[in-house]
Amino acid sequence: MTTDQTVTELWNRAKAIYLSSIFDEEEKSLTESYLDMISSVETDKDSFVIYTASKLTAELLGEKYSDKLKSSLTLAGGNPEWKIYFRYDEKISKGSKKTANFDFNKKTTVPSNLSSKKVPQNSFVSTLPLNEMYTFDEFVEGPSNGWALAAAKGVVENPGAMGYNPLFIHGGTGLGKTHLMQAIGNELVKRHQNIAVCYLTAETFLNEYVNAVQNAKVNGFREKYRNIDVLLLDDVQFLQKGKQCQDEFFNTFNTLAGARKQIVLTSDVAPKNLTVLNERLISRFEGGMVQEIESPTYETRLAILRKKTESMNVSIPDIAIKFIAENIKSHVRAMEGALGKVKVSLAFTSEEMITNEFLSKLLKDLIEKEQAIKNINIEDIQDFVIKKYGITKEQLLSTERTQIYVLPRQIAMYIARKCTSKSLQEIAKAFEKTHATILHGIKSVEARIKTDHKVKEEVDELLSSLGLSILQ
Ligand code: ADP
Ligand code: MG
Repeated sequence: MTTDQTVTELWNRAKAIYLSSIFDEEEKSLTESYLDMISSVETDKDSFVIYTASKLTAELLGEKYSDKLKSSLTLAGGNPEWKIYFRYDEKISKGSKKTANFDFNKKTTVPSNLSSKKVPQNSFVSTLPLNEMYTFDEFVEGPSNGWALAAAKGVVENPGAMGYNPLFIHGGTGLGKTHLMQAIGNELVKRHQNIAVCYLTAETFLNEYVNAVQNAKVNGFREKYRNIDVLLLDDVQFLQKGKQCQDEFFNTFNTLAGARKQIVLTSDVAPKNLTVLNERLISRFEGGMVQEIESPTYETRLAILRKKTESMNVSIPDIAIKFIAENIKSHVRAMEGALGKVKVSLAFTSEEMITNEFLSKLLKDLIEKEQAIKNINIEDIQDFVIKKYGITKEQLLSTERTQIYVLPRQIAMYIARKCTSKSLQEIAKAFEKTHATILHGIKSVEARIKTDHKVKEEVDELLSSLGLSILQ
């Protein structure tokens, strides 16, 4: 049995892959806490053994996660033939060697969305699983996304073709960029037997690069990316966080583009607004096809909602669909949230009771958020924050690093991002700062809210005085 660093790395990668396939935040954090109960892993030629500190945990985790972890391990580069064992390791608690063994392999099947058969094993590249629901068939076309959709289909017809490489899709959050990007991946995998499609977020790319640098494995990192046919890199705005990683990505990009491999990128802003990104990269991005996705029109919203209800096994009354389309306009993810709430309410409400009044109450939070997006602007937020903290606008906009200015400044940035539909670029302009400073400010408030209840209270208080709420 071996437990060297490679095995631990493989295990960490498999966990990251599995966790990234869970879209529900609550389920994700529950799974994370379950996986934290694993104390160590070992491997040999035929098996991968996962140790826990109690018999019950071994049994529970085996029942729950055996299949999923097996496929994630394969995706992470593990041997697809491995049998997975969950063992209770007594030596952890009692210092003895005895182990209880639970074998879950007979039941193991690889779920199709995590299947690794399309990625040749030797040319493994870490890839996050594609969501099998994100297909062209499930994507509703409308004037707000028609060009982006056409370009995505063009890529599928002719991957790597001049003029479409890279394809750069940008637009606000929840408007379908990831869906469209994964639809390209899903369709290519369906059409071409052995195509190696690599999907990952720029954040994952960045983390992996940092790991490679720390472990002196940059060559291996580079080598991996030479073997793929299609690179789908989601949310490239995150590359702005790492200067060195941008250079690395520039090289990867050139290698792939030079070999006529298709590259697809998404971002929340247009390439020219990725202000912290290296100029060379921006001009590469602009050298292919750039398409924007905008907020959907009323008709498209209706069509999207109808499409989403098809896959639900409950029929959603038309009055609810129309109500959502009329009241929730900013992004599709919020529309889906509203649809979910209506679906749940149908379990304890008869159809006749679903009136506009009922729906206004049921969807109050979402509608308030929507109205806040419409009504509030960055200046209002800044004015409110300076009043609350008793500082001047100059101090708020200054670069002074004193805490008494930094916190209000970052909170104002955070609220501007969460409660207006303004892009990062516009927020950066309003605060006379760079895109990266704004991102840093938002992240730091997010982190402090989690750890410092005083900051959380201050933010909540500000939000409620502004008549806003933040939906997570
Ligand atoms: P983004 O990556 O732009 O933030 P996503 O691709 O994650 O947005 O989309 C958010 C949700 O909205 C997904 O569930 C997606 O399926 C859905 N969605 C967005 N646009 C459309 C569309 N045109 N047709 C069907 N579903 C859509
Ligand atoms: Mg996305």
